[in-house]
Amino acid sequence: MHPLSRPHSLERRQERLRQLLERRKLPLLLVSNPVNIFYLTGFRGSAGVAILGPSEALLWVDPRYTQQAREQARGVEVVEERGSLLKAAGRWLGKRGVKKAGYEDGHLTCAGLRELAGQTPGTVRLTPAGELVEELRYVKDPEEIECIRNAGRLTAAVLAEVIKQVRPGVRECDLAAEIDYRLRRRGADGAAFETIVASGPRAAWPHARASAKLLKKSELVIFDLGAILRGYAADMTRTFYLGNPSRRVRSLYSAVLEAQQRAVRSLGAGKRARDVDAAARRALAARGLDGCFTHSTGHGVGLEIHEKPRLARGERQRLEAGCVVTVEPGVYLEGLGGIRIEDTVLVRRGGREILTPAPKDDWIIM
Ligand code: ZN
Ligand code: ZN
Repeated sequence: MHPLSRPHSLERRQERLRQLLERRKLPLLLVSNPVNIFYLTGFRGSAGVAILGPSEALLWVDPRYTQQAREQARGVEVVEERGSLLKAAGRWLGKRGVKKAGYEDGHLTCAGLRELAGQTPGTVRLTPAGELVEELRYVKDPEEIECIRNAGRLTAAVLAEVIKQVRPGVRECDLAAEIDYRLRRRGADGAAFETIVASGPRAAWPHARASAKLLKKSELVIFDLGAILRGYAADMTRTFYLGNPSRRVRSLYSAVLEAQQRAVRSLGAGKRARDVDAAARRALAARGLDGCFTHSTGHGVGLEIHEKPRLARGERQRLEAGCVVTVEPGVYLEGLGGIRIEDTVLVRRGGREILTPAPKDDWIIM
């Protein structure tokens, strides 16, 4: 049985949301973000509106999704609606005599809010609730961790296969296609983001897309890939060199690897996000390379490829056991290319666990 269809984990999440609503003095929350609806109910459709409260649990879907929702969703009453889902939810709020309801202001559009408010003229106070469900998603439960761990293993296995095809004369986009194909063949829902294969000078662009460029001897090549498995993403980057690297390239690689390992070792429950970023930056600065590290050190991963927390300067948020983050320092030098090493890592009480188990020492392809 799929872990997310275990009713108890969904019930536990709904219960945690109810506790949070009580603390925030919000009687009800209207959830419109499909990712959050999936997290709370198990329904994986692309559209739906849910209302959750102390004893309320409803999910409106359109007829495309009625059957699916009845099969997937747990702990909510599924209501089929042929018209606007928001209007239906608004009418329900009005009829119920609800005085106040929160909505996801980071997701609901202005037009959506007007639609909702149009059904409850003046009777219901609609309050921006911020990112309540995202707060719950910040710490992953065991079922979620199991999904991300499997996604990480799958990602590492696919890179190990595809690396055998890496040689001069192969196009970047063919390697990216091969990765995407193998992710699916091994059971992933797909790639969690557009797979990056960037070689030579193009590797100096942190977010280059795979192009028709041919791999060449004496070039760096960056692979940034991740499976999405049962809704959960992994994110991993490895950099390789085709041929015999110069002393300069070897020293750059070992600098990035050291920065990555130091940042990984600095992870732990109670640590601040900015301190993990600082650990990577300090290691690169010691080699005079901090100016070549142009992005933040990492980001949360889960149902979405970019979640909280950001591991970046100024981020005071504390990590908790159960947070899953990437650690991905890199250096980028115009003309020469780039080197980035990234793992998805689980924060534990006394430390951390790398969830993307691919080697980092076998980076030279002769
Ligand atoms: Zn990545
Ligand atoms: Zn990443």
